[in-house]
Amino acid sequence: DIYGTERRNSKGINLDVLSQWLPLKQQLDQHMQSSWTGAPLVNGKRLSGESRAVMCPYALSHQVGEVIWATAEQTHGAIDQLAAAFPAWNATPVDTRAAVLERTADLLEQHMPELMALCTREAGKSLQDGIDEVREAVDFCRYYALQARQRFALITLPGPTGESNELYLQGRGVFACISPWNFPLAIFLGQVSAALVTGNTVVAKPAEQTSLLAVRCVELMFEAGLPSNALALLPGDGAQVGSVITSDPRITGVAFTGSTQTAHLINRALAARDSAIAPMVAETGGQNAMLVDSTALPEQVVKDVVHSAFTSAGQRCSALRVLYIQEDIAPRVMELLKGAMAELHVGDPFSRATDVGPVIDADAREGLLKHIETMKVADRLIAETPLPEGLDGHFVAPVAFRLDSIKQLDREHFGPVLHVITWRNDTLDKVIDEINATGFGLTLGIHSRNEDTALHIDRRVRIGNVYINRNQIGAVVGVQPFGGMGLSGTGPKAGGPHYLLRFVTERTRTINT
Ligand code: GLU
Repeated sequence: DIYGTERRNSKGINLDVLSQWLPLKQQLDQHMQSSWTGAPLVNGKRLSGESRAVMCPYALSHQVGEVIWATAEQTHGAIDQLAAAFPAWNATPVDTRAAVLERTADLLEQHMPELMALCTREAGKSLQDGIDEVREAVDFCRYYALQARQRFALITLPGPTGESNELYLQGRGVFACISPWNFPLAIFLGQVSAALVTGNTVVAKPAEQTSLLAVRCVELMFEAGLPSNALALLPGDGAQVGSVITSDPRITGVAFTGSTQTAHLINRALAARDSAIAPMVAETGGQNAMLVDSTALPEQVVKDVVHSAFTSAGQRCSALRVLYIQEDIAPRVMELLKGAMAELHVGDPFSRATDVGPVIDADAREGLLKHIETMKVADRLIAETPLPEGLDGHFVAPVAFRLDSIKQLDREHFGPVLHVITWRNDTLDKVIDEINATGFGLTLGIHSRNEDTALHIDRRVRIGNVYINRNQIGAVVGVQPFGGMGLSGTGPKAGGPHYLLRFVTERTRTINT
């Protein structure tokens, strides 16, 4: 408090922070008791069907609400309607479309307590993750609104006397947005807002696990003035709804975030159609490494490793999976890492004392536990955070294992599991080649106080987001545009200045005056 204006009580608690926290906490508590219902939203109307229960990932007997999944027939109907609505939305001035996003951002902020509660209840997010989630969704809306206003300005081009040439952007048609459960608001809304502000009508399929958050989000967009025929939301499973969407000839583009395997399936489905060639924006998996040399500061390394590997229970595409540590510094870093992992608290994500909440569902937990068991049997355990007794949810304790090579990992393990490989100074380039050879290229952390080494690594790796001497998660919209290359995605980067261009078509108009 450099201005000396902080008010603290006798226990040293900051009263200003407390006075903001208590009203928020009260509202959060209220929403934690709520029950939500969701259904497919087509033309602004909730469709009927069979409801299924939505259960809480950290209190397994608690029902969060109910949701109806869309059928194949409803999906076809939604695309019919969106195709018919496209010309009018595409002809709507970009300022009007951008204003809808800005009003959505305002509404998200006003509904922060409800959305945070739902992030916790439906997705098992910690309070801090819930705040970050809503903030990022707000940032996407405001950033793409701003970008659209700039990008859609008509460009006048040179030409001979008597000829006028103009270049301008338009929407492509019906765009499909298929989003993951790990950022159920931010990535969902990032895709949808980009596709809408560029003049497309949108069919959105949220992840099965987080349909209720998507429904609330779309309701807020309608409240913000989005015409009800510009966006259809189809909760449902990938096989049913997803494949009907991606094989429909009227889909003119797809934004997808999820597994590399599903991205390949979508790509094949799009290619098998004889209709318009559709671009795809894919953000997929990773096998993210952090490379630490002997000049790094051990305390800072451990802080950034723990943050990068275990925040959000490791369920971020950007999360650290493989720590490469130089052999001289390894003993000290391992000692500190063991200490730090022993202190992590796993448990109720709604408690402020919790560092690591649950993973998303029983399948995710089972897959992780299988890998953890294999690693333990192979005698590779370095450290494991103790799991408190009596937890009733999909919890996985943070754990670290020794590896000899990144090639020993058959796939990305999407949870709080860290792998550690030791390297010698003369093997640095081999390590870099090994990371490149995975074919993934999402995030990389580098820790070195030798600038030449850091820049040498940075130049040689084929990675979308490189973070030097800090953690490697939590890319900020407009600050660290996010996305990988190779098996990790197509680019352009979410939250970056080129993203909207993949959602548009360019037109040139020449007039002989
Ligand atoms: N943008 C997020 C981050 O930087 C990760 C997004 C994802 O998991 O898909 O942590």
